[in-house]
Amino acid sequence: MPTVSLTLTEEEILRLCASFPASLHKTPGPYMRDLIKTEDCVLSVYNSGKVVFQGSKAEEYASPYRPKPKGIYPEAGSDEVGTGDYFGPIAVAAVLADQKDADFLKCLSAHDSKQITDARILETVPKIIERVPYSLCLLDNTKYNEVQPSNNMNRIKARLHNMCYRNLKKKYGTLPEHIIIDQFTPENLYYRYLSGEPEIIRGITFETKAEDKYITVGAASMIARYAFLKAMDQMSKKYGMEFPKGAGEKADEFAANFIRRYGKDELKHVAKLNFANTKKLPE
Ligand code: MG
Repeated sequence: MPTVSLTLTEEEILRLCASFPASLHKTPGPYMRDLIKTEDCVLSVYNSGKVVFQGSKAEEYASPYRPKPKGIYPEAGSDEVGTGDYFGPIAVAAVLADQKDADFLKCLSAHDSKQITDARILETVPKIIERVPYSLCLLDNTKYNEVQPSNNMNRIKARLHNMCYRNLKKKYGTLPEHIIIDQFTPENLYYRYLSGEPEIIRGITFETKAEDKYITVGAASMIARYAFLKAMDQMSKKYGMEFPKGAGEKADEFAANFIRRYGKDELKHVAKLNFANTKKLPE
């Protein structure tokens, strides 16, 4: 079920709660100050200021309360996916948007891909990449397992982000002054991870939760997710087995089945071997 979770200010909460008739307000549970139930959405308002929208219209109810993109355009932003998934590649995308592209992305309501269903990603991203400048870097599992022993995950991410911006620059000739990365490591470490790279893109702003604050980061997270889903699809077709996302029990079970069919040696082409899942495999 579509779920959106936002942290709102006191003023926004009052406005939100007042926008529903009294009959829709139900008795709130523990730690909650209000519970609103409409036909197509349940809104749980917590004392902390967090509001969870759940139901088919969750996005519609939540969107007026999403933080407004801070946009100074042109803007470039990047984000990565696949780093918590045992199977499949790591994908990093960067997006470059001028005011017009940003308006277009806002119309498509581009934001954090973790809050968007896979079906909507598959439907929306082709429209984005047809029109908005972007670059994409995929690190497949074979390569990941080669480089991982001498690189930690943050170093791998830093290099992929940097590569995305280099490609974006090469493709479009220039990068804007305003570049944002959804922060996964502090700024000083980010640049330290890049030492030795032939070209380092600098002047980047690092912010957490940037995928909801900057439209380019939101769009980048959607493009990266799209590429990840497509890659998983290709793997599933190639091996005739439907690869699961995440790194939980389903991944464990799948890995055991996979090595029964294809042998343990083949796993390095489809999984991130340094994950704890590998240790749980039957001998
Ligand atoms: Mg991120």
